[in-house]
Amino acid sequence: MPSLVQQVRDAGVIGAGGAGFPAYKKIDARVDTVIANGAECEPLLFKDKVLMENYAAEMIDGLQLVMQHTGARKGIIAIKHKNRKAIAAVSTHLRENISLFEMEDVYPAGDEYEVVYHSTGRRIPGGGLPLHIGVVVQNVETLYHIHRAAQGQPVTHSLMTIHGHVKQPLTAWFPVGMSYGEALQVAGGATIDDFVLLDGGPMMGKVVTDLDTPVTRVTSGIIVLGRNTHLTERKMQSEQAFKRIGKSACDQCSLCTEMCPRYLLGYPIQPHLVMRSLLTTGPMSGTLTHWAQACCECNICTLWACPEELDPRNVCVVTKRDLKQQGKWLSPEQLQKL
Ligand code: SF4
Ligand code: SF4
Repeated sequence: MPSLVQQVRDAGVIGAGGAGFPAYKKIDARVDTVIANGAECEPLLFKDKVLMENYAAEMIDGLQLVMQHTGARKGIIAIKHKNRKAIAAVSTHLRENISLFEMEDVYPAGDEYEVVYHSTGRRIPGGGLPLHIGVVVQNVETLYHIHRAAQGQPVTHSLMTIHGHVKQPLTAWFPVGMSYGEALQVAGGATIDDFVLLDGGPMMGKVVTDLDTPVTRVTSGIIVLGRNTHLTERKMQSEQAFKRIGKSACDQCSLCTEMCPRYLLGYPIQPHLVMRSLLTTGPMSGTLTHWAQACCECNICTLWACPEELDPRNVCVVTKRDLKQQGKWLSPEQLQKL
């Protein structure tokens, strides 16, 4: 009989919460707590809610398998308080060592660092992983796939929401490899002519214009948006443009930092300092860039906080890319000393 790690690996299970991290690597560990993350927080996406409403028993079986494999004595299912139907469905299948934790209806409640802190009171070290504090976090759809993997079933479909300008918004299973254009037809097709697709939700999703783009194991939703909407235009801004505008218009008000959820949890992230790095050169600029490293790319700073409509989030994203390419990525210990 193959181990759970081997079964999950053979079935091709990867994190369905967006990161796509191989699930077998996460569960190949000894921890005391496993968290089922159902605190879906992207506006307009409902796939985790639908999964828990319809497959609660299978998801909890996957959770229990991971608990047994990792030696965890405690399982926690994190769900937003507002999702009463999902809470009711999950509640009927709870077992003695598995409890429910109701999260507030805020964004980004589903961020791993937020879920772990609020449901266990423990803080993942900056730049670290839940494993470092004895916790494994798996998205609820991933746990459903782990349940199936234990029965020899590979991942062939992804649960997705199709929303925005379509005839019939829906959440359903879509085969991996189906094109986005075909998936749109399942929702009755687009109701406007000049549109783009958001791959993911409005906050973190990326603009896609190619309808032949295939559904993957991490596709969580497609939002149909008008090409000329404010959100589309902001998301399509080039790196050259958001850097140039940021360099000339950032007044260092620091609202982006004050509203940053990771900063509010005490992590070494200060997007206004990363913006300042655009204005400086030499060693000072290099030091400032490290304040981007703990960014989870939630987009609060760009879409909510910045009064100038600048793009500190994407400045952090490209800064992190550059730090990695230049071999300047700090270890968790170095990051804590910033
Ligand atoms: S909120 Fe905007 S203007 Fe203020 S520091 Fe951040 S990027 Fe600059
Ligand atoms: S995207 Fe902005 S608000 Fe979100 S973690 Fe990064 S810096 Fe903070």
